[in-house]
Amino acid sequence: MKRELTKGRFPIEKFSGVTTPFYYYDTTLLRNTLRTINEECKSYDNFNVHYAVKANANPKVLSIISQAGLGADCVSGGEIRASLKSGFPANKIVFAGVGKSDWEINLALDADIFCFNVESVPELEVINELAAAKNTVARVCLRINPNVGAHTHANITTGLAENKFGIAMEDMLPTIERIKEMKHIEFLGLHFHIGSQILDMGDFEALCNRINELQDLLEKHQVKVSNINVGGGLGVSYDHPNRQPIPNFHDYFKTYASHLRLRPGQELHFELGRAVVAQMGSLITKVLYVKQGTYKQFVIVDAGMTDLIRPALYQAYHKIENLSSNEPAATYDVVGPICESSDVFAKAVDLNTAHRGDLIALRSAGAYGEIMASQYNCRPLPKGYITEDFI
Ligand SMILES: *Cc1c(COP(=O)(O)O)cnc(C)c1O
Repeated sequence: MKRELTKGRFPIEKFSGVTTPFYYYDTTLLRNTLRTINEECKSYDNFNVHYAVKANANPKVLSIISQAGLGADCVSGGEIRASLKSGFPANKIVFAGVGKSDWEINLALDADIFCFNVESVPELEVINELAAAKNTVARVCLRINPNVGAHTHANITTGLAENKFGIAMEDMLPTIERIKEMKHIEFLGLHFHIGSQILDMGDFEALCNRINELQDLLEKHQVKVSNINVGGGLGVSYDHPNRQPIPNFHDYFKTYASHLRLRPGQELHFELGRAVVAQMGSLITKVLYVKQGTYKQFVIVDAGMTDLIRPALYQAYHKIENLSSNEPAATYDVVGPICESSDVFAKAVDLNTAHRGDLIALRSAGAYGEIMASQYNCRPLPKGYITEDFI
């Protein structure tokens, strides 16, 4: 097997004085990823990409993404605030979520964001009422549950009838009828999001086919649709962060361009989170102890599930590398210090022989890493640093 060059990717000498664990964000890779997205989109003049802020809301990361011209996809009032503060223009912000609080809706109305992605009739009624009180009109897309499965982990599929998200397809037309009575709601179109870490383009193709059916139905009923938002979900290669640092945006956008039958003048929106930020991030942690167990060797590191919960929550795999050692590889279970048996990053992985004090990188940790950190066990939250912090 070709040996992947990793160690040169990190300014390891500069890491020595930094308190571990911490997140390191490779901004060269982030900028290259954003450039690729913009270049792949250029061929389609009606494609609009929003960054799903929930994947990583580090302010330095958000600024770089807003400077690249992407919009923001928010799922809370806090995310709307963070996006505005990081330079995303309000007219490129969309707001989804099954449980929007009144203060969050008011915040979005005051900021005059582009669009609410609405998930129920009761929510529509509240938005209409709050918009009326401000004598304004809220633009909305209806989030439709397309009952399309994604071949991904069960906890991260969202587009099946059994999931809590969105409005059932059979309720779409009656809901649009209701909107006609609401003076403070403007109907823009439809929103979808079928899940996350999707690598099979066939899943997105299935979504396109479903949207085509729904659009035919709406056309029959003379409903004007100006915007279609297909959500996000494009996956990354957790196995090969070095060989595939940038996801295949070309095939992703092409899948939508070839299979979705857009009507003249329609704008297509995407909400990509993981695909933008996963590969540029690593959790850097230090080896505390190497412990010989009865059957195996453990590397006990100072990061735990409080810093990166994905392995414990989704049995997610992160490639692990010993940045400090060139000694022959040995097999270890890599575990954290938290008092939970699920606080295991990986079992039976090969690492260059580990010693106390070695720096370990958990790769592909830029998405759903730092932002999901908790203070369980009264631990401090990990800090996030970008490349420029070490220059
Ligand atoms: C989480 C989420 C996204 C982003 O998903 P990724 O898999 O990170 O691309 C997009 N849209 C909505 C509505 C979401 O909830």
